[in-house]
Amino acid sequence: MGASEGRARRLGGGRSRCPYCGLPQERVATLGHEWVMLEPDLRPPAHEVPAGHRWIELSDGRVSVYGVCPPDQFQRCRIEHRLACPARLLPDLWPWLTDLRGEKARQAERPTAPEPPPPSERWPDAG
Ligand SMILES: [Zn+2]
Repeated sequence: MGASEGRARRLGGGRSRCPYCGLPQERVATLGHEWVMLEPDLRPPAHEVPAGHRWIELSDGRVSVYGVCPPDQFQRCRIEHRLACPARLLPDLWPWLTDLRGEKARQAERPTAPEPPPPSERWPDAG
């Protein structure tokens, strides 16, 4: 009934080939009734993955973004294939660092960078 056509291009399970790099990726349902393409067979510790990119598997097979912060030391997670895809640019994983670098670039372009204040010779009374 046509169901086999959809299955023919799959690699088994929810796996398919990434249209950018040709490597396998796994299509998994999310709690939000959408789909996410995950990197197959990879479950790094959640604390090594930037917040917002940690997908955890639920008992029904769906996945959800892991919201515990800081993450549990032993929690494993999954990541989207696009983070590992060699054919695509890495998304902005650390927005605050990107902002900081932008600010530093503006500082570096100024003709005279502001001098840091001289260290105080007098220490406050510590008692
Ligand atoms: Zn890819």
